Amino acid sequence: MKAEAGKNVVGSDSEAEKVIKIAGSITVDELAQALGLAVTTLIGELFKNGIVATINQRLDFETAEIMIQELGMKNVRLERKNTAAKLTDEGRRELSKDAVSRPPVVAVMGHVDHGKTTLLDTLLKKKTVEKEAGGITQHISAYQLEYEGRKITFLDTPGHEAFAAIRQHGAMLTDIVVIVVAADDGVKPQTVEAIKFAQGANAKMIVAINKIDREGADIERTKAGLAEHGLMPEEWGGDVIMVPISAKTGEGLEKLLEDILLVADVEELKADVKIPAEGLVIESHMETGKGSVVNLLVTGGELKVGEFVAAGGVYGKIRTMLDFQGKPKGKAGPSTPVTVTGFKELPDFGDRFLEYSDEKSARKAALLYAQGAASEMASANVTSTDLLRMMNVADNSKVFNVIVKGDVLGSVTSVVDSLKLIDTHGEVTLNVVATGVGDITENDVHMAVGDNTVIYGFNVNVPVNISKLAARDGVEVRTFKVIYELLDDARSSMEELLGEEVVEEKVGEMEIMGVFRVTKSEVIAGGKMTEGKVVPRVLARLRRKDEILGEAEVESVQKEKIEAKELIEGEIGGLALKTEKKMVPEVGDKLEFLTREMKKRKLEG
Ligand code: GDP
Repeated sequence: MKAEAGKNVVGSDSEAEKVIKIAGSITVDELAQALGLAVTTLIGELFKNGIVATINQRLDFETAEIMIQELGMKNVRLERKNTAAKLTDEGRRELSKDAVSRPPVVAVMGHVDHGKTTLLDTLLKKKTVEKEAGGITQHISAYQLEYEGRKITFLDTPGHEAFAAIRQHGAMLTDIVVIVVAADDGVKPQTVEAIKFAQGANAKMIVAINKIDREGADIERTKAGLAEHGLMPEEWGGDVIMVPISAKTGEGLEKLLEDILLVADVEELKADVKIPAEGLVIESHMETGKGSVVNLLVTGGELKVGEFVAAGGVYGKIRTMLDFQGKPKGKAGPSTPVTVTGFKELPDFGDRFLEYSDEKSARKAALLYAQGAASEMASANVTSTDLLRMMNVADNSKVFNVIVKGDVLGSVTSVVDSLKLIDTHGEVTLNVVATGVGDITENDVHMAVGDNTVIYGFNVNVPVNISKLAARDGVEVRTFKVIYELLDDARSSMEELLGEEVVEEKVGEMEIMGVFRVTKSEVIAGGKMTEGKVVPRVLARLRRKDEILGEAEVESVQKEKIEAKELIEGEIGGLALKTEKKMVPEVGDKLEFLTREMKKRKLEG
């Protein structure tokens, strides 16, 4: 985000060690120079690792580090140059002594249907439930309320796990996570995910045990469930505040708000106000007559109407500013959510915004960002994930190409981010060919032709003529209104590409008591079944302690010297094994019996 970010400095700590300081990313040319290599050598090395790079291509820190290892340059050390010296690890500003206290930013999270929306509604006395597709909050928004003369900002983070990506963006904003658990349902997968999120984001947790008005509500059992996941209630000697509430009747909500303020006090949340305004883009969309409508959360300074701002590669002058209830607001300080107009284009969800003194500086900052010179990781054209993926995938890689269209930028970002989270351990690569806001167009179809590319539309339409065109060209257009259905579809498409795998199942085990005949292609041995059973034609694997000595096929089974259909646990009998390589069992060895079959592969998780 800063102009100096593109510059990289080569320094030397000692004769032997060379230190290269990288500000977020570095071009191939700069890295080659810093390493004292011909740029072609570096490009060649990248090529060997599956990356076709140009001289001006930017590599992120991790990629540069991997390349240095690959080149065997042990005396070179990479260091991150702190481009945003004022930002801490979590992306927060380091404070001056003039910092003043600010409202806490609270995210409400939990399992679907446990009552997050109802809680926010009741708190804000405002109905929003009906508007959502699939009953899930689709866009991140923010609200602010006042309790006992103090403000609390709530981030309405989307509930479904599919929005892990969005929530990651929101992480650095969140001071406190209120985890909503329904007392009649207990801890569920997304409850656990919310706990992990809070831990990952270094946020304080407060648990709201909801729906206590319900008949099946069991507060103690819910606490026990939470304790199993490491959240120990205060009243049991732990340090997590758990408040029984009913989002529906309002019971317990005052206590919840008091506890939020209490935690905020302990945390001593502060921000600087005498600095240029800054914050994060939390939602953006186009509106007829207004142009870009952008939700911002101010994190520092004071944003005022008429000021110049840049966010990512976009700049503008704040034309109008409204609070979360749509009332005009002249200025907004730290932790305040506002809706502004005046950006020339749509900034990306998750972009940081900064105030500039005049239009020229704002435009320049946006331009620099757009050119990739000023951004941090985001500007790297090659990231370590790409590199590792390419290294692992090698030639038998399979690629699932997609084009993503969505109704607003926020949804495109979250669909793309969530798609990228579908992990195939490098076996199937998801390649986002293009993204865009708006209905599916002819151009999308053209782009998709030929490469087995699927066009995903989220909350958008497919005009009839486009649908016909796609059908004619054999392009698949799949539209969804609920993001996790889209992700499930992508996941199964990727599973299709994974093909089949061999699945082994252990059916029994025998301890060898005697070996009667060993040739190159046959073993006859006897023993006692210690578990399961053995039948002809299963696989037998010879094991001596932890070592596997060979495999054979069970040709026939004998019980009391007569050919038998099977031997079961506890029985003693003999086996004829057909071996491909000579295998010499000893008394005391184990034979494991296995079946093998081909199964369609599934992605984990
Ligand atoms: P979300 O998916 O977590 O946002 O859950 P919602 O707020 O949409 O709530 C899911 C359902 O539970 C709705 O039918 C709510 O009316 C209901 N609900 C939420 N909180 C309570 C509560 O405290 N008591 C009762 N009885 N029902 C509740």
